Amino acid sequence: MGSFGYGGTVDDCVKEVLACRGSDAERTLKYCGRLARFAGEHDDAGLLGFASYYAGETYYLLNDGEHFFQSITKAVSCLERSKQWELLARAYNILAIASVNRGNEPIAMDYYLMGLSVCKKYELYEIENMIRLNLGNLYLSNGQYVEAQKYFEGSLGCLRRSGQTEDYYAILTCIYVSLGSSYMLRGMTERAQSYVRRLQEECLSHIGKTEQLYALCFQAQLYHRMGQIEQRDACICTVCREINADMAVMDVFDDFYRLCGLLLEIGCDEGFLKVSGILEQLVKQAKMVNLQKKMVSLQIRYYRKNRDHDAYFKAAGVYYELSEMMERENRYIIANMLGLRSSLERANEKRREVEADNIRLQEKSETDALTQLPNRFRLNEYSETAFERAKRGQKLLAVEILDIDYFKQYNDHYGHQAGDACITAIAGQLAAMQNDRIFCARYGGDEFIIIYEDMTEAEVYGEAERLRERIMGLKLKHDYSEGLDQITISQGICCDVPGDETKSWDFLHTADRMLYQVKEKNRNGIAIGHLDGPDEKEHI
Ligand code: GH3
Ligand code: MG
Repeated sequence: MGSFGYGGTVDDCVKEVLACRGSDAERTLKYCGRLARFAGEHDDAGLLGFASYYAGETYYLLNDGEHFFQSITKAVSCLERSKQWELLARAYNILAIASVNRGNEPIAMDYYLMGLSVCKKYELYEIENMIRLNLGNLYLSNGQYVEAQKYFEGSLGCLRRSGQTEDYYAILTCIYVSLGSSYMLRGMTERAQSYVRRLQEECLSHIGKTEQLYALCFQAQLYHRMGQIEQRDACICTVCREINADMAVMDVFDDFYRLCGLLLEIGCDEGFLKVSGILEQLVKQAKMVNLQKKMVSLQIRYYRKNRDHDAYFKAAGVYYELSEMMERENRYIIANMLGLRSSLERANEKRREVEADNIRLQEKSETDALTQLPNRFRLNEYSETAFERAKRGQKLLAVEILDIDYFKQYNDHYGHQAGDACITAIAGQLAAMQNDRIFCARYGGDEFIIIYEDMTEAEVYGEAERLRERIMGLKLKHDYSEGLDQITISQGICCDVPGDETKSWDFLHTADRMLYQVKEKNRNGIAIGHLDGPDEKEHI
């Protein structure tokens, strides 16, 4: 990332975006805007995807929902088109997070899964571990603990594979806390405790204050469940003393939120008011309606418990208004999702059309790209007309299937390129025997088809035998063959006059049966049979 091949001003803008992202929103948006204009003028999807992604990320941090969804949706379709998989996976992740924060979990799930499939396909472990962690937490908050654990374990695997990055221990802390919480919620307190130990041994000395407090939130919950009140209160005390609004608490909101629930439950009003006050301030600043609603629901419980009727009814009113607001936001998210879906669907349709065009082109060209022999499409056409001619004139027709012996071993030991050269050399011999009564085509892989028209069985056999000898004469060395130490072929032939009921594929079917017989014996041979033929001749 970093250069789109334009040099000069464009490169400078790209560098500026990468330097300012996350720290200077205004500047980031300014340079993203310039790049987007330039990309538009040059019809450059790659650059437009880049600019739209970072604009989207900036709007996300500014909590500007509308602009965020606009930019990131545009980014997704451009990044997909320009194959910038890492940014695409990040875009899905951020879309999912934004959807969770607005309370739309099913849509978030969809985005996460789309991101995950990009990560898996292109081995993007660093982003994959983030997405797995997020997905796990989504399951966790919905009470699906076992499912959540699978994602956390997966996240741990990805983290180990992606190696020690700058925030390695911060992420490891998140994973251990998440795994510990899921065991705790399943009632497996001993397993949960083993994560407290791991946190202390592996992470504690490498992480900042916020992560430490976050780990303490989990420990407080666990000690509470285990009835270890003193230890629980020691954790709570530290969190309440140290937490402040400058900490990046929003990233791990759920854990602090759960702690508030605990404080309320055990009647620690002072701690509750401090922690929930800070959370409330942060979610208000971030304008996250869903989280605001969660906080108000905690306050409602607090006022109810303390029989503060006025405050209770006031909070209930706020709760109702936030619900209405969320419904509006949700409609917006769903519309966006549908828009994104249909634009991706259109892109896929376009791709399918191109693929279909390619197949049509291939059919049209009628020659096999590797050997220049007629291909399967041409063979189909030809065999039908040859068959009709024989049927009409009641003439002999022979169809041969030729297959290279032990070709898989040849490929495996000498390589695909040598394999191709071998196929080409054999095709050369086939091309040399073609005349107005002999038609040769590549059937696919290491198989060829020969059609002999109006020739006696002896003549057909003679041609087939000469071909076998000429191919032996090429002396293509094959030390890994189970037969001779050179390339050989097996030939199955059906020779007959078509009857009234005969179909053209009956010939192919018998030829295939004959080929199978040769392969069953010792290969490097020819078998000729007839339609329905018990009177098959073998020349091996
Ligand atoms: P058998 O004697 O029973 O025919 O054994 P075989 O090893 O030849 O087995 P088979 O015919 O099933 O194997 C065909 C192999 O041909 C499989 C694949 O590796 C190889 N192959 C198919 N198409 C191509 C091609 O276009 N180029 C090359 N190099 N190899 C091909
Ligand atoms: Mg073969």
